Amino acid sequence: MSEKVIKESQPRVHYDCTKCLAFCCSIYERVAVTKRDITRLGKHFGVSAAEAKRRYTTDRDGERVLKRVKDVVFEETCAFLDQKTRGCTIYHGRPEVCRSYPGRSRCAYYDVLRFERTQQDDENVVPQVKIIFREDEAEA
Ligand code: SF4
Ligand code: SF4
Repeated sequence: MSEKVIKESQPRVHYDCTKCLAFCCSIYERVAVTKRDITRLGKHFGVSAAEAKRRYTTDRDGERVLKRVKDVVFEETCAFLDQKTRGCTIYHGRPEVCRSYPGRSRCAYYDVLRFERTQQDDENVVPQVKIIFREDEAEA
């Protein structure tokens, strides 16, 4: 979840969002937003928080989340992902959860991507990662 720029002040990390397809913006069905996130979104777009909430978020099982759209790489992705560059189009207005992700020095999805591309000796390979919950599996 990056603007594709690693700032000097950030701690050293072992992943490179500029070389990633934004698994984090795509494979999680919910990108939760708080009131503060919605206010920030509104400021970013120059609209009221109420308008930002209506335009850019939706209710998913009682949780307020960013809207999603069909994706060219994964099944769906965040409505704010640039599907060509795979970068965030609202970097300075993005929610807190995006700012803190992955919250450690490694990104597991980046590791999988690198592993598979090395394994296949092909820089075009994209592992199709999907998160499911066992309850959903049992219901299917
Ligand atoms: S999945 Fe990891 S490496 Fe890829 S964009 Fe997200 S944080 Fe960056
Ligand atoms: S707001 Fe930006 S960083 Fe967050 S999920 Fe959407 S595209 Fe990714």
